[in-house]
Amino acid sequence: AALVAPSGPATAEAYRDPALSVADRVDDLMSRMSLDEKLGQMTQAERGSVSASDVTAYRLGSVLSGGGSAPSPNTATSWADMYDGYQNAALATPLGIPILYGVDAVHGHNNVAGATIFPHNIGLGATRDPELAERIGRAVAEEMAGTGVDWNFAPCLCVARDDRWGRTYESFGETPELPASMAAIVTGFQGAALDGPASVLATAKHYLGDGGTEGGVDQGDTRLSETELRAIHLPPFEAAVERGAGSVMVSFSSWNGTKVHGHHYLLTTVLKEELGFTGFVVSDWNGVDQIDGAAGMSALDVRTAVNAGVDMVMAPTEWRRFIDLLRSETQAGRVPQARIDDAVRRILTKKVELGLFEQPLTDRSYTATVGSTAHRTLARAAVARSQVLLKNSGDVLPLARGGRIFVAGKSADDIGNQSGGWTISWQGSSGDITPGTTVLDGIRSSAGSGTTVTYSRDGSGIDGSYDVAVAVIGETPYAEGQGDRPGGLGLDAADLATLATLRAAGVPVVVVLVSGRPLDIAAQLPGWDALVAAWLPGTEGQGVADVLFGTVPPTGKLPMTWMSGFSQQPINAGDGKSPLFPYGFGLTYEQAQDDSSPPGAPGTPVASEVTSSSARLTWAASDDDVGVTRYEVVQVQASGETAVATSAIASATVTGLEAGTDHTFAVYAEDAAGNRSPRSGTVTVTTTDGGGTGGCSVTPGTQSQWGTGYVVQATVTNTGAT
Ligand code: BGC
Repeated sequence: AALVAPSGPATAEAYRDPALSVADRVDDLMSRMSLDEKLGQMTQAERGSVSASDVTAYRLGSVLSGGGSAPSPNTATSWADMYDGYQNAALATPLGIPILYGVDAVHGHNNVAGATIFPHNIGLGATRDPELAERIGRAVAEEMAGTGVDWNFAPCLCVARDDRWGRTYESFGETPELPASMAAIVTGFQGAALDGPASVLATAKHYLGDGGTEGGVDQGDTRLSETELRAIHLPPFEAAVERGAGSVMVSFSSWNGTKVHGHHYLLTTVLKEELGFTGFVVSDWNGVDQIDGAAGMSALDVRTAVNAGVDMVMAPTEWRRFIDLLRSETQAGRVPQARIDDAVRRILTKKVELGLFEQPLTDRSYTATVGSTAHRTLARAAVARSQVLLKNSGDVLPLARGGRIFVAGKSADDIGNQSGGWTISWQGSSGDITPGTTVLDGIRSSAGSGTTVTYSRDGSGIDGSYDVAVAVIGETPYAEGQGDRPGGLGLDAADLATLATLRAAGVPVVVVLVSGRPLDIAAQLPGWDALVAAWLPGTEGQGVADVLFGTVPPTGKLPMTWMSGFSQQPINAGDGKSPLFPYGFGLTYEQAQDDSSPPGAPGTPVASEVTSSSARLTWAASDDDVGVTRYEVVQVQASGETAVATSAIASATVTGLEAGTDHTFAVYAEDAAGNRSPRSGTVTVTTTDGGGTGGCSVTPGTQSQWGTGYVVQATVTNTGAT
């Protein structure tokens, strides 16, 4: 790449010398700075409210694009031109300190038309694949680098504890461990070293407790003891700090009534001192304004936030006011000069580490990566990996080629719906908002020319001549508090009408649910033959079709516990409530269920394919099964347990059974060290008596802690010879 040297006089100032240590360069630079130059570094303005000449005049440290704030035309090249315009304005100051330009590239470089849009975090959580997250982070960083942008307000490491919350889809999952593992995406964004090719600064957000607010209210109050707060919400941030995340964004929320933006203990004592975070803390959009409870930004807001440990303030429109207030608070001694110096040192350290002084302008060799085939291919694979198969009665999936498939639903042919919020605009929107393949496009291309694929949005026109109907339904786009749903999470009237039309045709119905969270579907579920949670897959709808047709087997696991009813909110793993589908649940095609058999809770075996002397047992692996090298099936008898089968996967066939008799089985998981742990529940199988070829029926046994429709003990009985 042709790199453009910084403008300004060629001097031998120490801070420009890449041969010196970062600390020495920053020390030298700070020794040359006035208070106003330092205040400028601590200020971030929104592009719509700041001109390039403002950046020069006020020595601003950072500019951002809020959700959807894009240059016109919205192309990668005009982004790069805009970026270079601001950067040249920063370089034109006496010290020539480059700006950091920040965006929310939260599922791809999503403000840029034509960028690759990856699944939102909830879908990545379903993949349980940190290495995939890291690769996606790398791809996003390349697309960002191609537009100049240096700083990503991602990943969101919230632990989403309540589906009513409108930001649930920005979470990798509801347990502390899952987002902590997916913090691997930080390494993808930043690269192995911050000054490496196409490295962008990552932001672990929103610190701390954003996903734990009462009632799932966005920007609400997280009422937890310190022990609970640390146990549930801190681990992902610890992981991000360990991975060297360069910045942390403060949560709008409060902890037990105190705004985190003014929380010295959380921001300084815990984050900076205890976790050893050496990057800088940025406030959220006008977040400091909320500290004193009065509208607008006050002197009290500013000094409380900065003294608490906020290093850079996102003051999108009121950035001049912020500078004035911070200047007067500092001059009056209410904000110590040492605190200003610490904040500026942290910011400048990251700028030097990023190599911005050496390469301040856009590296246009990356511009062609925006929406590239390679990145779309990666996104398609990620989409396929994120699909969670929740139900598959009668093996209606994978879809067969050669017959007739009817596709319906408001999200079947809608890039905007399948991408969700934070896509082109802040809230996202339905419709053809950016290039990609819809789920319908994907189905058509996977089905091939020998299959008749017919589509109508509302299901009208279907008749009984179809082999199968696929309904792609769910949520339409939203972001942040606009997505809060305190009143219910049911399907909308249009979806219910579409489903009713399809079911009236008497064909099997496969539901593909496009949503940012589990929805309240328990009442509808019995009428569906198959259910796939597609989350918010982004622009590569082909990845959904890859799973529907079995080109890629479903392997996703629920990142969230799935409610049996809205009144269960909040519902989380281990809280003793009875979900529709437990955390970690997910079927694959090898685990096809008997037609009438509900899926087991994790670990609970269910039986199918019962004959006079054998039965197939299937159990879902749970998250506890990480590291499991084999399963052992034991037969439970009064005299004790006898091992009857071992398996590397979550199913096994037991043979040599006595005809017409009850047999009870349990399953143990074993790791490489030989540690054994029992899977929950047992299954009782009644083998057929050998007297005929009659079928078997599975009847639900005792209702379990896993809720309605779940089987802890299933009894398989011979319904007689034909
Ligand atoms: C959101 C942040 C985001 C910021 C900048 C805020 O409203 O809470 O997640 O980074 O806007 O767009």
